[in-house]
Amino acid sequence: MSPRRSPDHITSRSRTERGPAAGRRQVVRVAALVLCLALGRGSVEPSPAAAFAASPADGRPDRPAVTRFAMTAAARGSLQSLWRASVQANEERVACLGGARGDDGVVRITRVYALAAASADSANASAAPSLATCRPPRWFGTVHTHIITSPAGEPYVEFSSPDRDVMARWQHAWRAEGVFCLLYSEAAAHCVAGTRGAAIVTYAPPTQAPAPARLASATDDR
Ligand SMILES: [Zn+2]
Repeated sequence: MSPRRSPDHITSRSRTERGPAAGRRQVVRVAALVLCLALGRGSVEPSPAAAFAASPADGRPDRPAVTRFAMTAAARGSLQSLWRASVQANEERVACLGGARGDDGVVRITRVYALAAASADSANASAAPSLATCRPPRWFGTVHTHIITSPAGEPYVEFSSPDRDVMARWQHAWRAEGVFCLLYSEAAAHCVAGTRGAAIVTYAPPTQAPAPARLASATDDR
């Protein structure tokens, strides 16, 4: 990660602070967050971010365990595009995830917003844009790609230690349980919802064995 992107364009609004001075403080806080993210995952305490956190509606302790991740057809298409763009550029790609978490334990991913590549290579992408952009209430988490494989040709299915650090920063900054997915093949993703659920999700049917239409419709939530 490198501090290539200027934090000047990033603004934030607090529910409690108003006026030009407060605005400047917010900009400084956001800049500090972005800068610490850019300089190193884990070396700087990002606590000022909590000062402009969104409403912690997602942090409900009574939220049920996640039983399933569902995706709309549009979201699936966007994730497939994200994977293809990542492979084509040979760079990790990151996108915002939006949707809803139902009381039935189903996480529904309905929106995907691909971020412009920033400081990316095949094994890394800057976390700063996703942390600043993929924020509640519009977004509930992020997705990124694992396009490289192990020397044995196996995909990296698990979230890496730096991944988990970024996820913790997101949850701390926005005081919400995030939904995070990583795409590790053209068809499969690993998704987690806070600490309440994790699953391997087929976001696109494998090309060699297309799923029957009725199965596809059964997992689409429109
Ligand atoms: Zn990762």
